[in-house]
Amino acid sequence: MVDQTEPGRRVASAAGPWSEVVRASRYVLSAPHAAAQVRDGTPKRAEEATRDLALQLSAQLGWSAIHTEPEQRGDPNWDEGSPYLERLAAWHDDVVVVDLHVMRPRGVDLCLGLGQEPERASRLYPGLVAAAVRSGYPLALNWPFSAGPRTITSQLQRRGREALQVEISYTCLDAERYDQTVAVLRDGLAAVVA
Ligand SMILES: [Zn+2]
Repeated sequence: MVDQTEPGRRVASAAGPWSEVVRASRYVLSAPHAAAQVRDGTPKRAEEATRDLALQLSAQLGWSAIHTEPEQRGDPNWDEGSPYLERLAAWHDDVVVVDLHVMRPRGVDLCLGLGQEPERASRLYPGLVAAAVRSGYPLALNWPFSAGPRTITSQLQRRGREALQVEISYTCLDAERYDQTVAVLRDGLAAVVA
């Protein structure tokens, strides 16, 4: 696998740092759980793979990217108006965010969470559904995660932005399947802008 990642620009905040890769694109890949987070006082494990996924997809698609860095003092996918969320909201008047997460295997490889205002995800998910079907990746909409009111996806939708949450089973990210999984995500997201 070619390493297509490049380091982002590190930004400090009161809730913890992140790194961002700013390209000439209003589309942003987000990995808010790339670093361990603290949800309502409880530490939660990092979804480390989402960092490289965001950076690789960013390089391949020409989209921007952002991911958290240690150490986080909150959870950007749970806290209302976190600095990370505010950064995303301010990225561009018409920012479009695809928020990447890793989940335990629950019978589907991918779960697309459409958020509380699913019309603001309606342009973003059909390409992923088509790419997953082509590659034999079982996929669900809104199950087990629908992107509830406190998620980045729903918070951005409430502000009139387009956003989609993508949960990826970690079984898709082992060495044997990793490249194919990146290709499914890339092809599915490329269809949004095509
Ligand atoms: Zn997550």
